[in-house]
Amino acid sequence: MMKPKLKILDVSASIGCNLSCKGCNHFSNYFAAGSKISTDALLDDLNKILPRIDIGRISVIGGEPLLNPRCEEILNACRSSSDSIVYLYTNGLLLLQNEKWIKRALEDPKIFLRISVHIPEVIDIVKKFNHPKVIVSEHHDNVDQWFYSIKQKDGKVYPYDHKNPKKSFYYCSCPNTQLYNGRLWKCPNSAFLNELLYVTDQENDLVWSEYKKQGLSVDCSDDQLKTFCDNSTNHESICNMCTSKPLKFSAAVQSKIKKKVIHV
Ligand code: SF4
Ligand code: SF4
Repeated sequence: MMKPKLKILDVSASIGCNLSCKGCNHFSNYFAAGSKISTDALLDDLNKILPRIDIGRISVIGGEPLLNPRCEEILNACRSSSDSIVYLYTNGLLLLQNEKWIKRALEDPKIFLRISVHIPEVIDIVKKFNHPKVIVSEHHDNVDQWFYSIKQKDGKVYPYDHKNPKKSFYYCSCPNTQLYNGRLWKCPNSAFLNELLYVTDQENDLVWSEYKKQGLSVDCSDDQLKTFCDNSTNHESICNMCTSKPLKFSAAVQSKIKKKVIHV
């Protein structure tokens, strides 16, 4: 039987971040650097789900994945359970502390390193790391433009409710499947919504009820997995939470949102 296909799978090695980029499309500007995931559970999830899907690219991502001291194990599990190429994403701040194992990992022809530069200090770190397989994306120079996928007001968050989910999906900055907390999720907004509402003290806010859809368990049937993967490139009703008219701002801004520590 042919395996179902996914273009991209994001694997959350850490949902917390040591930066707070305004408009972060994983809501990691709300999650403190000390936030924890269960790495043992994630390694089990990877072993279960990766051999069942034909994946174009796996991204080991965060938050900041290098905040997880077992990031190398996660990267290795991605490679041993899948034929996909694997990108390790980082904001670069912890790169030199992790230089030895990352350079060892980059010897694998299917592993790449992507550094997203959000603050100018990281430029020097990239130069010192000095490796030909590094791909750098620049967000620090006020050229790149981001937007809030959902509405932000007075420390609270709200669905945009533009009633045009197809157009919202068209503008979506991260329509990538997420592996988080034992489940596959359509995108970061669905994966991390509960955690976001915990930070903003809106866990019981009825305005979010229709958007709180469970992800698909990694123990799902083959039919469920096929349906999920087949739908991954389509818009869904939950896309109504996201804007269909992006209001853009510089991606270089660090926000001052009060963060909370998240524990799985
Ligand atoms: S470094 Fe990346 S994960 Fe962290 S807040 Fe910025 S965009 Fe989000
Ligand atoms: S809900 Fe839809 S538009 Fe919003 S982030 Fe998810 S996939 Fe993208």
